[in-house]
Amino acid sequence: MATDVQIVTRKVVSVNPATGEVLREFESASESKVRAAVSRARVAQPQWNELGVKKRIAILREFQTLLHQKKSDVACLITREAGKPRVEALLTEVLVVLDAARFCIENAYSFLREEQVPHRNLVMKAKAGRILREPYGVIGIISPWNYPFSIPAVEALAALITGNAVVVKPSELTSLVALELEALLHVAGVPKDLFQVVVGDSTTGAALISSQIDKLVFTGSVATGKRVAQVAAARLLPVVLELGGKDPMLVLDDADVDVASSAAVWGAFMNAGQACLSVERCYVDRTLYDGFIEACVAKTKRLRLGNGLDPEIDLGPLIHERQVQIVESHVEDARARGARVLTGGSRLPKVGANFYAPTVLAGVTHEMRIMREETFGPVLPVMSFENDEEAIRLANDSEFGLAASVWTRDKARGEALARRISAGTVMVNDAISCFGISEAPHGGVKSSGIGRTRSARTGRNGSHKIPGFRSATRSKKSLVVPVWRVVHPADGRFSRSDVCPWTERPLARSAALSGRASPQRASLIRSMSRVRSRRL
Ligand code: NAD
Repeated sequence: MATDVQIVTRKVVSVNPATGEVLREFESASESKVRAAVSRARVAQPQWNELGVKKRIAILREFQTLLHQKKSDVACLITREAGKPRVEALLTEVLVVLDAARFCIENAYSFLREEQVPHRNLVMKAKAGRILREPYGVIGIISPWNYPFSIPAVEALAALITGNAVVVKPSELTSLVALELEALLHVAGVPKDLFQVVVGDSTTGAALISSQIDKLVFTGSVATGKRVAQVAAARLLPVVLELGGKDPMLVLDDADVDVASSAAVWGAFMNAGQACLSVERCYVDRTLYDGFIEACVAKTKRLRLGNGLDPEIDLGPLIHERQVQIVESHVEDARARGARVLTGGSRLPKVGANFYAPTVLAGVTHEMRIMREETFGPVLPVMSFENDEEAIRLANDSEFGLAASVWTRDKARGEALARRISAGTVMVNDAISCFGISEAPHGGVKSSGIGRTRSARTGRNGSHKIPGFRSATRSKKSLVVPVWRVVHPADGRFSRSDVCPWTERPLARSAALSGRASPQRASLIRSMSRVRSRRL
């Protein structure tokens, strides 16, 4: 008998963007499958939490060892599914995750350490409270395709070590890499129900948001992020939104042109420009402009494009046709409005369908899409400025605020300008690399997102101050140490929940639990603790 009921199964296809080879097809997980996965995760989570930090650390160490052993295989898989050169897959994905595991192992106890809430209110003198950190429960992670291994892994490791269960909805374009992460964690000893991957498209993602997860970490475009935020708001689901960027690079009049031009080329073309922290806008002091442009063009022309599995190549393909079309339309719009294409500016069908030549543009203005919208492709638009004031104005003239960089031989000048740029992270004489530092908080201001991932230690020390964050990533040619500045969008200060997103359940229950406190006193302590934890 014929029936009106149709069960529609949506397919997601994993394709090698360099060759077009279909790697595998999957059925998108349905809403009921997503709900079932979250229910299983919820059942598994208490036991995982009770296992204790020591045993969870042991499992993470096992994961580290396994990943180290399989690093080449994992890097190859990333290259096959996401297109980036294998050396990039190793450095910006596998090594980043190994370091994130190291960071979680080293800091697991401090993430969860209880804290006294000191206070100086004379009326409340006899009262005391503590902040206890408890896992949320089930963390949902929705991730993009451009860093298909490191983004979900870094977020998941922090959630797991602090006693949470995790359900990941990876990008529909990079399901295989996410499943490899799942396999590694399971072999390392993470229970199957505690970490799960639900493969699927946007509908699967939407199902995860409306399931019974306790917190969501979303990484993706601004447009999707806004939709996600609306749905999450309707059920007061806490969310971290890591969204797009249009990162400016400021080259001051005293910068080393050789170093800065290399950084611009690297920063714009790494992962074929498909990095949220890519250099998407480059501003150069008028006195250096010609020499800088000349150096960028010469260096760009030397780049070799091809299949990322070939160790000789520097740039892989874009992820799919849609991405190529966006790049093409931005370059065409710039050209039509008077920009000059100094190199590149076209597809490379002989190399492959998804290849676009690394492109340097001069004569660009803020009226062009290339300077306003996220391009997410291999284009370096370069514009000159007259003085530092104009450079800051141009850098801040954007709806985005993920990261930025300032290039100068004068560290104090660089830091002073860095403080005036509206961005989640500003680097002095470095670009992109902040993502490789597990200790550095990551996240944007303005349309680039809400909340932070990574770095819980800065939250643990309760600092109100913005730390000048120094690391060993000193550029060989420069004497200036990179500085990361992190601002809170609302008041320019750290918020604890920004830097330790996994364990924000402040409970001042010590007195209440000891039986000494009256219910009123316990409630006072609790509210005081909440207020303080929000302020710190
Ligand atoms: P996207 O927004 O298209 O998709 C991201 C994820 O959301 C995918 O898994 C997708 O399936 C899912 N999704 C789509 N619609 C959804 C919906 N309605 N409900 C729930 N889930 C939904 O982004 P993309 O093209 O995969 O990734 C590129 C974008 O990600 C760029 O804008 C880039 O800047 C940004 N990004 C940001 C960061 C960061 O840390 N800030 C890092 C990497 C990438």
